[in-house]
Amino acid sequence: MATYRELEEMAKGCGFTHFAELDISTLEFKQEVRDMCNPKQCNSYNKSWSCPPACASLDEISERVKSCNIGILVQTVGSIEDSMDWDAIMETGARHKVNFGKMRVLLNKMHPSLIAMGAGECKICDDCSYPDEPCRYPDKMEVSMEASGLFVSKVCSDNELKYNYGAEKIAFTSCFLM
Ligand code: SF4
Repeated sequence: MATYRELEEMAKGCGFTHFAELDISTLEFKQEVRDMCNPKQCNSYNKSWSCPPACASLDEISERVKSCNIGILVQTVGSIEDSMDWDAIMETGARHKVNFGKMRVLLNKMHPSLIAMGAGECKICDDCSYPDEPCRYPDKMEVSMEASGLFVSKVCSDNELKYNYGAEKIAFTSCFLM
């Protein structure tokens, strides 16, 4: 089992700009957050095995998390000119996706039962097989923190990690649990 310090070094090496130890007992899987996954509020709804209505229920996710005893919150924070600076927002989001993929692969080798909670839908395959074929990698599927019912800003504040870095920054947040 990796120590938190080892996870932190790995996160730095993968390109994340900020991270914090995640106390798993702070995680609350809330239906009201899961309910924000709906066709009016998210383009990913009903488009991936990793998103509602296809993904695991909150009870199933909460049960899986009970077997974990160490976790890390990871962020990629980027600079933006203002809240409409979509190029910079998309660039930071893409960088976060790359960082997240790198760390997931490294951790999966050490911890096959890793739980990787990303920002947005699962991005392991270029084209999700949903709904025509079963998920290609059910053991590796990434379910977002929001779809898992986690109120991301609260998870950050409960674990002493900033969520909002001001008007000229954008932050993407994910976590790994082992
Ligand atoms: S692993 Fe592939 S098929 Fe499964 S949810 Fe992710 S993108 Fe879809």
